[in-house]
Amino acid sequence: MSAPRKPATAAIHAGSRLPESRAVPITPAVHTAAVSWFDSTDELDAALDGQDFVYTRIRGENSVLLEEAVAALEDAEASAAFGSGMAALRAVFDAQALAPGDRVVMPADGYGATRALFKRLCEQARLELHPLKLGEPPALERIAALRPRLLLAESMTNPLLAVPDLPALARAAHAVGATFVVDGTFTSPALQRTLEQGADYALHSTTKWINGHSDATGGVVSGSRARIEPLRGARVLEGALLGPFEAWLTLRGLRTLPIRMAAHCTNALHVARRLREHGRISRVLYPGLPDHPDHATAKALLRGGFGGMVAFEIAGAGRAECFRFLEALKLCRPAPSLGDVTTLVMHAASASARRLTPEERAAAGIGENLIRVSVGLEDPDDVAEDLLQAVRRP
Ligand code: PLP
Repeated sequence: MSAPRKPATAAIHAGSRLPESRAVPITPAVHTAAVSWFDSTDELDAALDGQDFVYTRIRGENSVLLEEAVAALEDAEASAAFGSGMAALRAVFDAQALAPGDRVVMPADGYGATRALFKRLCEQARLELHPLKLGEPPALERIAALRPRLLLAESMTNPLLAVPDLPALARAAHAVGATFVVDGTFTSPALQRTLEQGADYALHSTTKWINGHSDATGGVVSGSRARIEPLRGARVLEGALLGPFEAWLTLRGLRTLPIRMAAHCTNALHVARRLREHGRISRVLYPGLPDHPDHATAKALLRGGFGGMVAFEIAGAGRAECFRFLEALKLCRPAPSLGDVTTLVMHAASASARRLTPEERAAAGIGENLIRVSVGLEDPDDVAEDLLQAVRRP
């Protein structure tokens, strides 16, 4: 028998290997080890090539499990997880290796931070950036004329909830040799598989519906193995990885994504209908309402519902009045995100569109009186009544 280890050594080395077991945990472990070791240096060598888990930045167990689950939902060959939706957008942009003078087309009415990021990246690389309203038919002609190398669309725009015709945009992009990236954050893979609708990359901020509980920031990109492998390679060098606990939480949230989305869609439709009752609400935007301009497109492209997002305008309200509305909420939370089990409400111009200039907001159609609601899983009548009492207040 070997001599007992001295306390300082035992404290470090004892309890580091589980006894042999054939048990498969019903939920995966959180692999917090940033580094692992192997009995054999050949195995270590292979692991450094990414064939096993040796260093989290190269390949992390929890990220791999999440990627497998997202790829299955997207019916994609592969997925790559990132530390945030913005990191995922940045990685996809960089992977295009655009040259000075190349053109990039993106939504004029999309997420403000994405616009600010693309503006900065295009300035740095001397690219031309062309924001367009992609839900409107002239966009297709503009794409044909501009011949961009990269086209980014949002599956449902943030915050106006326009639903662009992705197959038509994909055809327009591919006809001029552009790569087509779709940020599907607002619809999630439960409602829309954007790769099937022509996207080359299907991207999501997992912080929203995929996680569903606002407890982990993350992003994911799916596509062919040939497109995803370079993103993974760049992630190893640039370090924009998703941490193990965040990946674990995101996978736990993803388990209930389809069933949550079904309930969010039912609740959002109910809330949208109730909001129309109120005289002070001048416009309700919900793709599931027959009078929404993109209702037919949404019906054709989304499966199982029209999403959990509703937007509305308070007649004649300015920013101060909208802020008072937010403060008057008793149940819904005035928080600048979406996709949570809790209903989250936001003043669009000062939050998701904050990074747009007033002129850009006006061109996009984002008024000072626009409120965005991510409808949660509370009783939808309670949500509607809270919104309506707060609208009555100011
Ligand atoms: N894409 C869309 C449509 C978003 O709404 C957001 C965030 O609100 C992002 C990307 C960025 O995601 P993250 O906050 O995870 O970086």
